[in-house]
Amino acid sequence: MSGGFRGGIHPHDKKNATNHKEFLNLPIPQRCFIPLQQHIGAPAKAIVKAGDHVEEGQLIGSSDGFISADVHSSIPGRVIEIIDHLTIYYRQPTVVIEAEGQFSASAMPRDPDDWGTLSGSEIISRIKSSGMVGLGGAAFPTSVKLSPPPEKKIDTLLVNGAECEPYLTVDDALMRKFSLEIIEGTRITMRALGVKKAVIGIEDNKQGAINAMRNEIRSANPPEDITVKSLKTRYPQGAEKQLIYSILGRIVPSRGLPMDIGVVVQNVGTVFAIREAVVFKKPLFERFITVGGDLIGKPGNYKVRIGSRISDIIEECGGLKGAPVKIVVGGPMCGLSVHSMDIPVVKGTSGILFLSDKIAKGGPYLPCIRCGKCVKACPMGLLPCELGNAAENERFDLSGELNPFDCIMCGSCSYVCPSHRPLSHFIKVSQQKITGRAV
Ligand code: SF4
Ligand code: SF4
Repeated sequence: MSGGFRGGIHPHDKKNATNHKEFLNLPIPQRCFIPLQQHIGAPAKAIVKAGDHVEEGQLIGSSDGFISADVHSSIPGRVIEIIDHLTIYYRQPTVVIEAEGQFSASAMPRDPDDWGTLSGSEIISRIKSSGMVGLGGAAFPTSVKLSPPPEKKIDTLLVNGAECEPYLTVDDALMRKFSLEIIEGTRITMRALGVKKAVIGIEDNKQGAINAMRNEIRSANPPEDITVKSLKTRYPQGAEKQLIYSILGRIVPSRGLPMDIGVVVQNVGTVFAIREAVVFKKPLFERFITVGGDLIGKPGNYKVRIGSRISDIIEECGGLKGAPVKIVVGGPMCGLSVHSMDIPVVKGTSGILFLSDKIAKGGPYLPCIRCGKCVKACPMGLLPCELGNAAENERFDLSGELNPFDCIMCGSCSYVCPSHRPLSHFIKVSQQKITGRAV
């Protein structure tokens, strides 16, 4: 077992409510709200207009620039309008589609393609055409991540199955149910990168997933250099830099990228979807998410169409047992609080949590008492208390000297602070002030 990054915390994982449930398909929503920017980079350009009929999986937004991603229709139907609609960050152009017609793309029988005959560049081309982005939450376009510059020599693919955020169990469930598909997706990704070695990292609180993946590798024919590494359960084990250090002992340089040290990291959900994109030429128009928290009627792991709104999800998941004080998109540590039920599921949505005041305690924060707990918890060796004080006093000249851009926004510092100081929020503000833009 491995997992020796510095700092980190051990919050209650709260995974019991969903981690042994079968996947369920949520019904198709009557209307889908599909934003043209669901990824890091330039928004896609709409190539449909109001009144157009679209098929399920049809391209409706074309990627615009090197770092961008195509966007597809999640349902067959008619484009009602293209409006500025609320997403988790801000309002942005969104294609609204009303369902009508046949569900051909998901219902049709598919003959798998023999990806073994495809070159690395042909695989990357199929991944790009599918609109694939990282499904762990970062939503970086996958075809770009798999195309490092020639001077960056990649030797290892890491498949991230750590799923260290409390509540979220969708990756765990995927690994237990679809181990064969994830191993095949890993091989496809290895071929795209031209690497001979892959390691799948899984926290040791997911023994079923570890066993399933190891059994699959054992029965692989011919055997390849794919191994499973059991990792200590410790948040944020699934953060890229911590995962790389825990598995390979390599350190990503300050403000550098994994490719600088020969590594590409892909989430298990992304690897699963890569297989579907390459073997079945399936665009990314649906994904698995965890719906959880103490207020949702039927917590579980669900397959959901991109563009389904939170209100659709609530209705199909048993309704709410009370008024939530917090709705979180993503996990409780790194996710974002939202205030509208109209916000749609996008490619990077790993979960939606509905939390009562028993779980999500609000209230004012207090001054720093210099206890040092945040410093001990920070996995990046930063001084969150000093960063927080500087930001609170608007001394962004001081923040800049404290390496705020090394912060991975894991929220460990805020979690342990006895004064409930919103430290990661302060650091985000510092980053924005220093760069003069949202980051
Ligand atoms: S300063 Fe950043 S990296 Fe360090 S614990 Fe806080 S959020 Fe995590
Ligand atoms: S944990 Fe909170 S109170 Fe303690 S040093 Fe850090 S900011 Fe100050």
